[in-house]
Amino acid sequence: MSDLLKQLNSNPMTGWLAKSIGLPNPVTLARENGPYQPQPFSGKRALLVSTTNGYLEAPLRELLEAADAEILRADELAEQERIDMLVVDGSGCQSPGDYTALYERLHPIVRRIATNGRVLLLAPHPEEAANAVASGVARGLEGFSRSLGKELGPRGITVNLAYVARNAGDRLDMLLRFFCGPQTAYVSGQAITVTAHTKSPAELPCEQLLAGKVALVTGAARGIGLSTAQRLRQEGAQVICLDIPAASEELERVAREMGAEALALDISAADAPAKLLEFVREQFGGVDILVHNAGITRDKTLGKMPEHFWQQVMQVNLEAIVAIDQALLDAQLIREHGRLVYLSSMSGVAGNFGQTNYATTKAALIGYVAALGPALAERGICANAVAPGFIETAMTDAMPFVTREAGRRLNSLKQGGQPRDVAELVCFLSSPGAYGVNGNTIRVCGQGLIGA
Ligand code: NAD
Repeated sequence: MSDLLKQLNSNPMTGWLAKSIGLPNPVTLARENGPYQPQPFSGKRALLVSTTNGYLEAPLRELLEAADAEILRADELAEQERIDMLVVDGSGCQSPGDYTALYERLHPIVRRIATNGRVLLLAPHPEEAANAVASGVARGLEGFSRSLGKELGPRGITVNLAYVARNAGDRLDMLLRFFCGPQTAYVSGQAITVTAHTKSPAELPCEQLLAGKVALVTGAARGIGLSTAQRLRQEGAQVICLDIPAASEELERVAREMGAEALALDISAADAPAKLLEFVREQFGGVDILVHNAGITRDKTLGKMPEHFWQQVMQVNLEAIVAIDQALLDAQLIREHGRLVYLSSMSGVAGNFGQTNYATTKAALIGYVAALGPALAERGICANAVAPGFIETAMTDAMPFVTREAGRRLNSLKQGGQPRDVAELVCFLSSPGAYGVNGNTIRVCGQGLIGA
C-alpha cells in the first residue's frame, strides 16, 4: 500500500520540503523474505552485556555463537564500529542499586547500535522474585526497555523484553532468533514471559521449522491470513487454508499457488465445528498449528449499534473460535506440542471508538489464551495471541486519509506494518522452539502509542 510520506521523503524534489516542515522520515525496515536459516546471525555483530549476577549469560553466549554471531566486547569496539544486536542479561536485577550497572553498561554503547538493529533485554520472572522490591525491580526493566524502544524506534531499531523463569534458560534459542532477527521488524516495546511449564518437544529444528506439521489458518483467502498461510508453508508445514464459501474462488487460487489445501467453510455456521472436525480427522488425522485469524468488524457507537452488528461480531470473532477449539481439543485432534494462535487487536488492548463489540471479542481472546495456555501446557500445547496495530492491508487502505495517516505514524517506527510482519510473529509462536512462550499476547504494532 502506498505511504505518501515515504514517497515525499524519497523524492529529491519534495524531500527537502518534508524535512524543513519537520515531517518524520521513516526508515526502510529491513525485512526477511525467506525462511529461517540454520545460522541466522552469520555476519552479524552482537554485544552481550550482563548486569550483576545474571543467570542467563552463559546460555545466551552459547546460543549466539551457535547461530554464528560475531560476539564483540564493548571495550574493544573501534571508533566508528556499529553493532547489529545488543543482548542484555538483566536477570540478576534484584535491587534498585542493580540498575546502576544497566546505566553504566548501556550508556556508552547505545548510540553504537546500527540502523535496523535489535535490542533484547532478559529480565527475571517477577513471579519468582524473592520479595516485593525484587518484583518491582524486575518490572522496572519493562519501563526501561519500552522507553529505549521509543528512543531508538525512529532508526528502525526494535527493543523487546523477556521475563525468563530461572529454569527456562534452555528455551531461548528461538526467542533470540526471532527477537534479534529481521523477523521482528515491526514488533517493538513488547514484554513477554518465558516459562518452564510447557512440556518440551523432542526435536527443535533450526531450519524448515514446521516440516511435518499440519497447520490450519482461518480467513486465509486474503490479508494477514493469506500472508500467514504462505509463511507457515515456507517453513515446510502442510497448510489448510479456510475461508467463507463466498471467497471460494480466491481461496482455491491462493491455496493452489502455495501448494495448500482449501476448505470453504463459514466458521460461524452452527455445524462448522462438526464439519471441520470431520475434515481434519479424515484428511490429516489432526492438526499441529491452528491459527484463528478470521475476524470481522461491524463498527457503530454502542447507542447506534444494531443488534445484528453485535451478534455477528460475537459469533465470528469469539463464539466460533471457542466452539472450534472445544471440538478439536475434545476429540484430541490438536496434537501434542500443538500451537494455538489467535488474532487479537490493539482494540482489544486499548479499546476503540465505535468498536465495543469488536474490542470485547479481541480482549476476550487475550484473557482466553492466558488461561488456556497454562491449562494445556502438560500436553506441550501453547496458546498465544497476536495483537496487530496498523497493518497495511486493503482494510487500512480504505480508511479516510487523515485517520490512515494518524494510524500509520502513531508508533515508534513512524510507519505501518506489513501483513508479513504479523505472519512472522505467528510463525514464531507456531514453531517448536517457542515452547517457553505460552499464554502471552504480543503486539505487532511498531510500538504503537495507543494502549502502550
Ligand atoms: P481481512 O478482512 O482482510 O481478512 C479476513 C478474512 O477472514 C477474509 O478472507 C474473510 O473472508 C475471512 N472471514 C471472515 N469471516 C469469516 C467466517 N465467518 N468464516 C471464515 N472466514 C471468515 O482482515 P485482516 O485485516 O487480514 O485481519 C485478519 C485478522 O487480524 C482479523 O481477526 C482482524 O480482526 C485482525 N486484525 C487486523 C488488523 C489490521 O490492521 N488489518 C489489525 C488488528 C487486528
